[in-house]
Amino acid sequence: TLIPNHLPTADLQALDAAHHMHPFTDGDELNAKGARIITRADGVYLTDSEGAQILDGMAGLWCVNLGYGRTELADVAAEQMRQLPYYNTFFQTSHPPVIALAKRLAELAPGDLNHVFFAGSGSEANDTNIRMVRHYWAARGKPSKKTIIARKNGYHGSTLGGASLGGMSGMHAQGGLPIPDVTHIDQPNWYHEGGDTSPEEFGLERARQLEAEIARLGEDNVAAFIAEPVQGAGGVIVPPETYWPEIQRICDAHEILLIADEVITGFGRTGNWFGSQTWNIRPDIMTIAKGLSSGYVPIGGSIVSDHVAETINGAGDFNHGYTYSGHPVAAAVALENLRILDEEGIVTRCGAETAPYLREKWMQLADHPLVGEARISGMMAGIALTPDKAARASFAAEGGTVGLRCRERCFANNLVMRHVGDNMIIAPPLVISKSEIDTLIERAVKSLDETL
Ligand code: PLP
Repeated sequence: TLIPNHLPTADLQALDAAHHMHPFTDGDELNAKGARIITRADGVYLTDSEGAQILDGMAGLWCVNLGYGRTELADVAAEQMRQLPYYNTFFQTSHPPVIALAKRLAELAPGDLNHVFFAGSGSEANDTNIRMVRHYWAARGKPSKKTIIARKNGYHGSTLGGASLGGMSGMHAQGGLPIPDVTHIDQPNWYHEGGDTSPEEFGLERARQLEAEIARLGEDNVAAFIAEPVQGAGGVIVPPETYWPEIQRICDAHEILLIADEVITGFGRTGNWFGSQTWNIRPDIMTIAKGLSSGYVPIGGSIVSDHVAETINGAGDFNHGYTYSGHPVAAAVALENLRILDEEGIVTRCGAETAPYLREKWMQLADHPLVGEARISGMMAGIALTPDKAARASFAAEGGTVGLRCRERCFANNLVMRHVGDNMIIAPPLVISKSEIDTLIERAVKSLDETL
């Protein structure tokens, strides 16, 4: 094999530092200390090059819904590579894996979301969405409907389009973002921004910012609103119950397409197949990736409603697509992943048993002296660290280093928990058992104690 599994950790780290640039990383800082080298994984556990077993509380990057080590997916990939490793779907051709996957997604997705445009990732799928909604309105004789309203602190990917839709100020500060005709409204983050208002009032207030933004821009200039059903990378911001019904009402009233970015919330993460079902949303387009293949191979896409597909299909060539749109190996692996999630009852069990158990345990973290709030939606959860519970204060004075310290304590205690500022977040594989949830919570509490 060409894979240097046999090399000592220090040699792997040195080679990594010499030649590999890491995403979302301070390169010099990492290279000085060396990356932790992950060599294998099974179930919910990663193994590093020193043999430590790390509980992966983030399912990779919120994607390994099925857990690690499912050899059925490897077998399907190998078989598909032998039969048809690649062919495109640009020039009047199609193939069985992509046909079967599109049909399966149409069955799983709610309402009339019956058509799929494939991409290689969530970012690419959101780029597709930008072009598709603008093309849609142009084809319907309303070319001025171009602006897409998104949210501050949202995350929609790292391409120019995806990062522009996203509302991450640290990303906008680099590389000339955002692209034109994208605007951002505030997020429904009650704990940090709700002040004295009740969560219900605050949810309505933040939703009505969409109506105000549509009025400011003029309804004839707005193509779509995009949001994650539950903001993920922003810190697992669970919206108040009042938020989504009001957003849906506003989109309907003003002829604005609704794009639900389900890259994280799809495929069981919130306890149903899609977050749109959990939150009772009727999107015109849904962005998918991550859990679609449980991260075993890269694949993403847009699931599109009947009326959007009819308009796009009826408007001549849609001049858009990726070399790997509907890649046969990725499609075959995704199809097998969806089969297992369904036939082994993983999504159903998550909704009925695993997520309620995780909720019971996770919400108890709110009693910890360092924790101001615990929040959860299905199998994605967050806690806010605070120096003052009553004031819902953050550790702003420390410049976000308390969350970072907590993450480092977790990693030292063999738990992957991510930090977003002063928030700690998890999204474990959906197959996590009750005793593994207990281990996760024990390691989290120990790490919180050590952070104090
Ligand atoms: N949309 C959401 C909600 C995401 O969380 C992500 C990735 O974390 C993306 C889009 C981008 O997906 P990808 O990293 O596959 O391009």
